[in-house]
Amino acid sequence: MNFKGYKILVLGAGISGVAVAEILQNNGADATLNDSKPIDKIKIDFSHLKNLGVKLIFGEQNEDLLNGTDCIVVSPGISINLPLIKNAKELGILVMSEIEVAYQLCKAPIIAVTGTNGKTTTTTLVGEMLETTGKEVVVGGNIGTALSKEVESVNSQGLVVAEISSFQLEGIIDFKPKVAAVLNLTPDHLDRHYTMQNYKFTKEAIFKNQTSEDYLVLNYDDPQIRDMSERASSQIMYFSRNTILDNGVYVNNGIITIAWNNQKYEVCPVTALKIKGGHNVENALAACGVAFLAGAQITDLANVISKFRGVEHRIEMVSAINGVEYYNDSKATNPESSIKALEAFDEEIILIAGGRDKNTNLDEFMNLIKKKAVHLIVLGEAKERFKEAAKKSGVSSIHSVESLNEAVTLAHSLAKPNQVVILSPACSSYDMFSNYEERGRVFKNLVLQLS
Ligand code: ADP
Repeated sequence: MNFKGYKILVLGAGISGVAVAEILQNNGADATLNDSKPIDKIKIDFSHLKNLGVKLIFGEQNEDLLNGTDCIVVSPGISINLPLIKNAKELGILVMSEIEVAYQLCKAPIIAVTGTNGKTTTTTLVGEMLETTGKEVVVGGNIGTALSKEVESVNSQGLVVAEISSFQLEGIIDFKPKVAAVLNLTPDHLDRHYTMQNYKFTKEAIFKNQTSEDYLVLNYDDPQIRDMSERASSQIMYFSRNTILDNGVYVNNGIITIAWNNQKYEVCPVTALKIKGGHNVENALAACGVAFLAGAQITDLANVISKFRGVEHRIEMVSAINGVEYYNDSKATNPESSIKALEAFDEEIILIAGGRDKNTNLDEFMNLIKKKAVHLIVLGEAKERFKEAAKKSGVSSIHSVESLNEAVTLAHSLAKPNQVVILSPACSSYDMFSNYEERGRVFKNLVLQLS
């Protein structure tokens, strides 16, 4: 699709909205960027857009915006169920997400990864594996940069590796990745998708335009993902942590193995993987499958696996002090993620948790803390509820603190050699920090000051 001469309304002035407005204007469209927030409440400099001739309408969002509009590009933060968007569709206005724009402008094949958890880790790993092919590789999507911006520079010989959220999948039309992967599906974002069925259906859009020339990598161990093959026209490659597969990526006698087209390839032992936890074994298996199908060599998969240290703020090793290792898992903003972190360690744990409470059920989390943690340090808005839930589950050593600084100092004084200290909050960060990245960086600085 050529956007030249199209009158396009971009809804939402975040990273993706700002990028896509600029790109569309540069491609000959007549773009308007709209956000219901007033311009002074958004910490972005819009002068470059003004200079390009993009119209800016802030602080209001009404039906007048639809006058003369050919197409609406919806930012991931905005629900496709907004009355304005429903009305636009009824008027025959084309509605799409930013990744659809990226797809339309992209000359290179797209490799797309989605799932509830593990997207960033898997996408980053695939990106590193594909760098070894010598092709030009760009990695983007949900990872802080807009995909439409990234694809511009890549020619048809390159590869684009994209992390795709369910929000972006709501607004695709022709989007067709050469290789797609669906990692897992657990209840999340139900405020937006309402039911699990609907959420699953949204995720399935990643392969809806694929044909038998394309590949779809699916998690065999999750029945909800496994049966997606029934609705796909693509060639299916499964990955499994528990089952030996005829066609797929699996672990055989501790060796990551790929079986494909009657051939077997041994990649490397699972123990070569530096990133911790069973969930990361799953991410590595998926990444091997995706990168293999996209053209990476087996030896290169093994090399990358043995070097990859993970992505910042995800069970990230910070430092070892007096025989105690400190880990930053600030990205764990819900109990399920923190459970993954607790499960990833055999050592005794001193856990720092709490932040802005999401009021989720804490039973499973607290039962695991009782089993695996010698001390629990709680902070933030959630601390009273966490403390009560921990007491109820029989956690014996609970400490309440006022700041992350106090938490780190206390953890340091409590820790004995061979124990590990983990910041894995199970909460969002907004009560004390601007985001989880800032919380993670503050934690790392405090730990480094100890050493
Ligand atoms: P996403 O980009 O989907 O949020 P990340 O790779 O950033 O995923 O990982 C975020 C958190 O999700 C991790 O800290 C971990 O707790 C959890 N996680 C990662 N991979 C998986 C997986 N394969 N299955 C379940 N949980 C996972």
